[in-house]
Formats: sequence, C-alpha cells, structure tokens
Amino acid sequence: MFFEDLSLKMINGLQLLIGVILALLIALAARKARALNTSGALAAFVLGSVVFGLGGLGWAVLLMGFFISSSALSRFSQKRKETLSEKFSKGSERDAGQVAANGAIAGFFVILHVLFPQSVLPWAAFAGAMAAVNADTWATELGVLARSQPRLISNGRLVERGSSGGVTIEGTLAALSGALFIALLALPFGSGQTTAIRWLAAIGLGGLFASLVDSLLGATVQAIYTCPTCGKETERYPLHTCGTNTIFKRGWRWMNNDWVNAFCALSGALLTWLLVL
Ligand SMILES: [Zn+2]
Repeated sequence: MFFEDLSLKMINGLQLLIGVILALLIALAARKARALNTSGALAAFVLGSVVFGLGGLGWAVLLMGFFISSSALSRFSQKRKETLSEKFSKGSERDAGQVAANGAIAGFFVILHVLFPQSVLPWAAFAGAMAAVNADTWATELGVLARSQPRLISNGRLVERGSSGGVTIEGTLAALSGALFIALLALPFGSGQTTAIRWLAAIGLGGLFASLVDSLLGATVQAIYTCPTCGKETERYPLHTCGTNTIFKRGWRWMNNDWVNAFCALSGALLTWLLVL
C-alpha cells in the first residue's frame, strides 16, 4: 500500500512538474507571438499550471484547443475587421483580466476534479466552460465577417456590425461549431456513463446556450460607452482607440466585457453539468 501510494504521488508530482514547465513555455511563446501582454502571460502561466499540472492531458488538450483556435481566428480575421476594432474594448493582445474571465471558472472545475476524482461531472463542466468561451470567441471572430446585418438578441432591432448583443445566423452557427469542436476534443478522454451522442450534445448545447447568454448580457446590462469624437458606441473605457475619454451610455458600470465572458463560461459549465447528470 505504502509503495503504491508513493508511486501514485510520484506520478502526480511528475505531471505537475511537466504541467508547470509546459505552461511556462506556452505563456512565453504566446507573449512573444503577441497573443498575450505581460499580465496576460503571467495569468496564463498560473491557469496553465493548474489545468495541465492538476488536470492532465485531456484538460490540457481542451485549453490548448481553445487557445490555439481562437488566437488563429483572431489573426485570420484581424485584417478584414480592422475598421470594427474600435468597437471592441481590447486589441488582440489579451491581458490578465481576459485570461481570468475565460479561465477562472474552468480552473475551479479542475480543483473540483482533484477533490472528487471519481466523478465525471467536474470534467463535463470544465468542457462546458471551455465550449462556452470557445463558442463566444468563434462567434465574435467569424460573426463580424457575416454578410447579414446583426439584430439585437433582446428585441430584434437591426444594429451595426460588432455591436454588443448583436447576433446573426452566421455568428450563431460559428458558436455551435466552436462548442462542438471542444466537445469532439473532449470525447476521447472519457465521458463516464454518458453516451457519446449525449456527451457531444450536452457540451455543444451548453456552449451554444452560453454564447447566447453572452449576447443577451451584451444587449442589456453590459456597460456601453460612446466616444464624443467619433460618435461611436464602444465597450472601451476609459479611453477610445482615438485617445478620447469615452462617456458612459447604458448598462451596469461594473459589467465590463471580462465579467460578461465570466458569466458566459459559468452558464456553459452549469448547463453542461445539468445535461450530463
Ligand atoms: Zn473615438
């Protein structure tokens, strides 16, 4: 028994060591590629260490699937949406707030998995959280390229491209694809007693529903500002891309884009958990 326990601890210790080293290398590479700024790279190092070191291979695959696919899509669509960039509160270099908004909920379920290793539910909820943030990112990156003009999810009113809370058919399909991408990556790493179809549906629908929650928050309570110089609506605060101070227009002041993303991740995790139960 003693030797079994000891070897188990050594395996976990080795996984932790490899996880921390991998997280460090990836955070440095992402900083160098300008996908993250310095605070974002530090936050990614902490989150990566938890997910790789305590979760293991399957958990690492989902986090990397999200990070690589969303960074690639950002880069791919950046040129085509340059005129829209002032609508978004941040550039393509992600900071610590953005990493935490997308990753803190996921990190919580890794810890829950360590405490309850026999249950598949923390793994399902983690996959749901990753599907949610991936769906939201794919919808944002690909949705702004849609031909149709977006409508506000709350009342169907036509809005400008890139507006918070605006949805299109193309963006919604991109969200579903982003969620199913994570579901497919998660499948080989086990789904407990859940059948493969139900597992894919739970994560796919969890991610899609969460991206709609994200849009609904964007259309209603997210803090939205206007730029007096450009006369445009923006999520940016306190400064617009042009350097002018933005003026508060609507929503709850504390509900910035990072909080909206965190609620998106939480709703994806909870819905997937319920659908897998
Ligand atoms: Zn401006």
